[in-house]
Amino acid sequence: MILFSAAAWAQNAPQSGVDVGAMDRTVNPCQDFYQFACGNWMKENPIPAQYAVWGRFQELLDRNEEVLHQILEDSAKHQDRSPIDEKIGALYGSCMDEAAADKKGAQPVMPDIERIRAIKDKSSLAAEVAGLHDEGVPAFFVLGSQPDFEKSTVEMADADQGGLGLPDRSFYLEAKDEPTRKAYVENISKTFQLLGDAAAEADAKANAILKVETEMAKASLDRVSRRNPHLTHHKMSLTEFEALVPNFDFQQYLAERHGPEFSTMNVSVPDYFKSLNATLGSTSLEDLKSYLIWHDVSNYAPLLSKAFVDLNFDLYGKYLTGAKELQPRWKRCVQLTDRSLGEALGQKYVERAFAGQSKEKTQQLVKIIEDEMETDIKSLTWMSDATKQQALAKLHGVTNKIGYPAKWRDYSSVKIVEGDLVGDAERAREFEVHRNLNKIGRPVDRGEFGMTPPTVNAYYNPPENNINFPAGILQPPFYTSSADMAVNFGGIGAVIGHELTHGFDDQGRQFDADGNLRDWWTAEDATEFKKRADCLANEYSGFSPVEGEHINGRLTLGENGADNAGIRLAYMALLGGLENGTVDKNTLAGFTPQQRFFLGYAQIWCQNQRPESLRTSLRTNPHSPGEFRVIGVVENMPEFAKAFGCSAGQPMAAANGCRVW
Ligand SMILES: [Zn+2]
Repeated sequence: MILFSAAAWAQNAPQSGVDVGAMDRTVNPCQDFYQFACGNWMKENPIPAQYAVWGRFQELLDRNEEVLHQILEDSAKHQDRSPIDEKIGALYGSCMDEAAADKKGAQPVMPDIERIRAIKDKSSLAAEVAGLHDEGVPAFFVLGSQPDFEKSTVEMADADQGGLGLPDRSFYLEAKDEPTRKAYVENISKTFQLLGDAAAEADAKANAILKVETEMAKASLDRVSRRNPHLTHHKMSLTEFEALVPNFDFQQYLAERHGPEFSTMNVSVPDYFKSLNATLGSTSLEDLKSYLIWHDVSNYAPLLSKAFVDLNFDLYGKYLTGAKELQPRWKRCVQLTDRSLGEALGQKYVERAFAGQSKEKTQQLVKIIEDEMETDIKSLTWMSDATKQQALAKLHGVTNKIGYPAKWRDYSSVKIVEGDLVGDAERAREFEVHRNLNKIGRPVDRGEFGMTPPTVNAYYNPPENNINFPAGILQPPFYTSSADMAVNFGGIGAVIGHELTHGFDDQGRQFDADGNLRDWWTAEDATEFKKRADCLANEYSGFSPVEGEHINGRLTLGENGADNAGIRLAYMALLGGLENGTVDKNTLAGFTPQQRFFLGYAQIWCQNQRPESLRTSLRTNPHSPGEFRVIGVVENMPEFAKAFGCSAGQPMAAANGCRVW
């Protein structure tokens, strides 16, 4: 079904680096550049039944999973294993034993359920919630650590909203989502029936849970508002926080969690806790217990017997993403191991699959793109010198981490018992949850990676002012050492520019060079920024990826801004490369270097996506779908119009293209 794997393509990469076979050359690039660059790929690559989205990212992810699969199969079998092999091999082995999971049924979660069933009064709920939070089960709220927004070198306690079973608060509140709520209630009811309840009783519990979560959803801050760090920044004393939730015994909760003591904390959404207090007061103990049982079972369902696995997939796979079939068990077990013991597995991945020179090469490219950003900031006509000085100071303060952490996480305290799948997953999760909780009051460790090494992704961290590129993304089609540099600039160059720009997007620009939430803009410059960002928000809000739904230009503003500026910085690097001879000036495969650059960028985003998945991700994902990451960017660039000879008025040459950076 796949035209070619990324691996095969790397070995046979044409000198031009452009994947000519992916293109549909019957389409005019000035009419629809996405079709031109990806049309044939989309036709030749229908979405496999197990996926909601299939694109170049998934191809690479698939290839990484094959590598992890081999590592885990070896680790599970070998005698004389290293401690790391023993640990990841045992977890993977527990997970692969499907027959054992089927035989156990719901038994692995019964101790949790029995404990919850035995609760006699509301005052005992706090201890139980603490236990569930230790296991990583979402319930009512989240308590962990995060850098202090005002003093980014120190971690502080943070309490936040959490514990909804549907992917966004809006699913509980909007009339059009009635069918989704019905599917949710049905799924919960069936789960309780699997646990032994009669249908009527299970239905009643499911409806009560929906009611509790609807109250929580109403009080939750929406995703767009959450992009504004000022709206999630409310420092208060522990005593003040406790006064918000008198119906919940927070002292008992903290005692059960055994974390560090603290007297001040951040409460991301104080109104949420006020409302939660009312919900805890007005809901019966039995309904609150049902809510906890549902979230406990839902959390572990993918690791239980087939009936639970299928039921969980019916809702979270089929209904919400449109995927038709479960992924093969080995893939789910690879993913579980990556989630649970990510840096142990990642260490093996780096040894086996990460070429050392890609780290050096990426380092060089980061430097080139950073230099272009400096040139770009200095040349902006809408920004005053005072703000430019601050922006440059922030740029010079950006650090970068490439590939994998300097110090690997030590999992030696995590007990993995072969054959005890749920227990293993629970203990691994508890280790992570406690590692996070124990940071409270301690210095921020900026050497840590927020993604595991095989991850095909990258990120910018505002309080740390650093950009991070896991080993998994430093491969074709993002970076191919044998390919033409024009295409590499369109690939990994644009990714680097994207991450760097996040330091200056609607969210990142509110943090300074040290990662503190501090306004370093003059009022006029901030107004100019917002005006330009509004242009982008309006542009993307006009796109409709699936019938009846539009992109939310405010939710995706940071990502779209990063795409637009990122490709511009990479394009400047391309021009530099043409000047200093590191980019081939010749026409290759019929394309000029500028054309190869834009094709390299567009072809990263070749993908097919199911409508169900589009509908869910338009409300939850801050990234625009692939097609619009291409079209939305090129139509703003006169450089693109020039490269392909597009004239004003054609769809890919917007009359008043948006530009922030
Ligand atoms: Zn991003």
